[in-house]
Amino acid sequence: MIVIKFGGTSVGETHRLRQAIEIVAERRERRPVVVVSALAGVTNQLVAATEAAAAGRFDEALELVTRIRERHEESGFALIGQKIDFYESFTAQLGRQIEQITSILRGVSLVGETSPRAKDLVVALGEKLSSVLFSYAMRTKTLTGVHVDSGDVIVTDDRFGEATPLMAETTAAARLTIVPESERSHIPVLGGFFGRSLSGATTTLGRGGSDYSAALIGAAIGAEEIQIWTDVDGMMTCDPRVIPAAKVLDLVTYDEAAELAYFGAKVLHPKTLWPAVEGQIPVRVLNTHNPASPGTLITRDGKPGAHGPRALAMRNGITVVQMTTTRMLEESGYLARLFDVFARHGVAVDLVTTSEVSVSATVDDSKKLDALVRDLTLLASVSVIRDRAVIAIVGRDLTREPEVAAALFRSLAGIPVSMMTLGSSGLNLSVVVDAARADEALRSIHRTLFEGGA
Ligand code: ASP
Ligand code: MG
Repeated sequence: MIVIKFGGTSVGETHRLRQAIEIVAERRERRPVVVVSALAGVTNQLVAATEAAAAGRFDEALELVTRIRERHEESGFALIGQKIDFYESFTAQLGRQIEQITSILRGVSLVGETSPRAKDLVVALGEKLSSVLFSYAMRTKTLTGVHVDSGDVIVTDDRFGEATPLMAETTAAARLTIVPESERSHIPVLGGFFGRSLSGATTTLGRGGSDYSAALIGAAIGAEEIQIWTDVDGMMTCDPRVIPAAKVLDLVTYDEAAELAYFGAKVLHPKTLWPAVEGQIPVRVLNTHNPASPGTLITRDGKPGAHGPRALAMRNGITVVQMTTTRMLEESGYLARLFDVFARHGVAVDLVTTSEVSVSATVDDSKKLDALVRDLTLLASVSVIRDRAVIAIVGRDLTREPEVAAALFRSLAGIPVSMMTLGSSGLNLSVVVDAARADEALRSIHRTLFEGGA
């Protein structure tokens, strides 16, 4: 079995949907299980509808939902309209789902506020609809598409909006729902992004979570491969919007891919990989708009013999928190007390450097910063540098490649660095620079390391 997952842009328009169905049909022999995102833009519309309803603007919410309905009806008609009984059964299902969401939104607008639980129920609609549409279209094409409700497969805790999947329960459920269908030569089609909690409520896995669903399902059924079909040729040496000379990486390790995903190489959701890693399932990133390109294969071993820098990644909107105090000298437990403040404020720390008298840390989330800084000030003198970007060189054995750091400094000439870290794993060498100069720095580093420039 293989898992084939399509992102929103791969199912966002009727001709793309046709292409996606073709891609699945061509892989019929490998017993595909399909996971789809919502049609591009739909999740955002559903978030907007929930917010409009909560603000008492039910008409606006209703209009958004109507637009979503029409879009699915139009694609449905184009794809399955020739089989009128299929089409009618599809629109009946569509109608039931839309009706349910409409009454929730009405409730939300009457109460004048929304709960995380109600929000999840509404935003999961995108994947509920896209998966039903896809399964009908698949049936018209191959007679073997069958819809499987992800609520019956992905079992989670009840942290609405960012639920954690329960792997043992999910595996057991997948064996009862997906595997028997596949054994009957059916092609199961599921919506990504959502699941159901043990208490029976619809939950979502966090924005961009459909890749995560695909990896969970792949691990649960012991798939031989998980294919993530998106709108780029694969993971690249850099963001091609900044660096047109960026190249596709043919083979990378799970670790390299996770570093890149974390640093905002927007190809994969950072959480996606752990189920695949644990199940040692290869993940292939492919382009629906260019199916002939080989894409990137992510495996445990990656590229044989590869060493040194493999790719560059950048993350914007970073804040550096610098803490300085002489009390740190020869005092034990001081770092623990500092980081305890971060923990108490629920602020995740990414990069850290320390010296005898100072500690610098980068944080992503600047919302909680004021309160955090107030408490840190009790322990150290604190300064905050906003609007930074982290640039990470991702690769292997970077600690053993003396040329890398030298090349990095050469290419940063004239661009001040606020912080720098090299993990002992040698996987990631990161520098923090002014966000306004980050593109410039990225281009220069890419030129030096990947384009043979100086
Ligand atoms: N539709 C969801 C989102 O936009 C999940 C996904 O596409 O992965 O966040
Ligand atoms: Mg996505």
